[in-house]
Amino acid sequence: MLLNRAKSASPVLRALARASCALEGRGAVDWFKVGRASPVPDTSELALTISSTGKLNSGVEMPLLGLGVYQTSPGRATEEAVKFALKTGYRHIDTASLYGNEESVGRAVRESGVPREQVFVTTKLWNSDHGYEAAMLAFEKSQRRLGLGYVDLYLIHWPVSQLRDESWRALVELQRRGSCRAIGVSNYTVRHLDQLLAGSKVIPDVNQVEFNPFLYQEGLLRYCQGKRIQLEAYSPLTRGYKLRHPVVLEVAKGYSKSPAQVLIRWSLQHGLVVIPKSARPERIKENSEVFDFEISAADMARLDSLGENLHTDWDPTDAV
Ligand code: NAP
Repeated sequence: MLLNRAKSASPVLRALARASCALEGRGAVDWFKVGRASPVPDTSELALTISSTGKLNSGVEMPLLGLGVYQTSPGRATEEAVKFALKTGYRHIDTASLYGNEESVGRAVRESGVPREQVFVTTKLWNSDHGYEAAMLAFEKSQRRLGLGYVDLYLIHWPVSQLRDESWRALVELQRRGSCRAIGVSNYTVRHLDQLLAGSKVIPDVNQVEFNPFLYQEGLLRYCQGKRIQLEAYSPLTRGYKLRHPVVLEVAKGYSKSPAQVLIRWSLQHGLVVIPKSARPERIKENSEVFDFEISAADMARLDSLGENLHTDWDPTDAV
């Protein structure tokens, strides 16, 4: 029953379902409480771990927790952060050609001792590289800088007007050739996704957007769940701006967890893939220790109510 219902849910919700059903001697969990307005999963019996993955539309397994490396300096800082994260158990790194650290990410993965196929690496097509031919060339450069053979997930970084459909065609072709295992978009609103789907039979595996309790995009989340597009939360820690918010502090205290851990767990319990950034070992570790507690439905609702349309990054709403 649970799995049937989960079939129409996001990959992470389906992973939660599998984890739930794998629990010995326990019946299926009814996540979607009858009469609830929002499909907040009741995760009280779910056994998520740092190794948990969600299955994407393409069939690729995507780790639910990743390390973001935006604004982590290329060279030693990125290499050390990535190596430390992989040692801690992360299996997913989120970079972009814009970040200027693809080379360092690739070197760290190669030198980490973790087999290539066990690490999920995302990179992104930058705005100045749109159009079919330009996107193909940009991918080739990213692939070369990473030096990891294939790319696990290639994303259109931003819904650039006019050229983005041509770029999407390039991503579809790159996936067909096996150069990247999964493809998706970033900063796409429902309008951008509708437009993409009107012109393409290939549904993006992922939409990576800014998402946290202060930018709780419930409509977009439901839309993506309906299409089985995995929503991925960037700036899940509000870039640090709201870590001292009284409600976040109070909820964190209740679980003897840090505000950052509560925000990461909130994303996971909403069925999102989440990619907190830190360049500091103690925080990279802290941000991974989110699998030993459960935010209650009441506390999830309190956090959900903090939405104030806070964009710490670009707001794509008006991107034509
Ligand atoms: P974030 O993860 O919300 O926050 C990062 C900030 O929080 C950094 O200043 C970090 O500082 C600090 N921090 C990390 N862990 C902490 C902890 N446990 N306690 C207190 N502070 C902590 O912001 P983000 O970097 O914007 O987003 C995460 C990732 O999403 C990026 O790295 C990138 O990969 C991706 N992203 C994608 C897009 C897009 O357009 N697709 C846009 C933005 C970001 P320290 O490093 O000093 O620890």
